Amino acid sequence: MGKKKVYHSFEDLAVNEFGMKPNIGHTNDKDKLNSQREKFEGVCPYCKERAKFILGTNVITCVNPECKGKKTATKFDEDGTEIVRYTPYVKLLSSESAEYGNRLFDY
Ligand SMILES: [Zn+2]
Repeated sequence: MGKKKVYHSFEDLAVNEFGMKPNIGHTNDKDKLNSQREKFEGVCPYCKERAKFILGTNVITCVNPECKGKKTATKFDEDGTEIVRYTPYVKLLSSESAEYGNRLFDY
């Protein structure tokens, strides 16, 4: 078996395999694409940073390393030290939304 060619987008494939010109279809409007992506991903409700859609999944999550997420529980250990638990921001999409997201980010 030879090395498999990997294309990262239809545009990539079209340019490499068929000699088509880049910027086909709606991909030439990068600003519009970016704003669609931004709107789709939204922001983390805890740190207000832009959230990130994980391509190939139905998950939008916060990738800010400084963000701990939602404070979910507080308890004290034997020494009386406060232990705070956080749950990171994860938004699970419906399959329709996930499909839309994968189309939106996969080029
Ligand atoms: Zn966050």
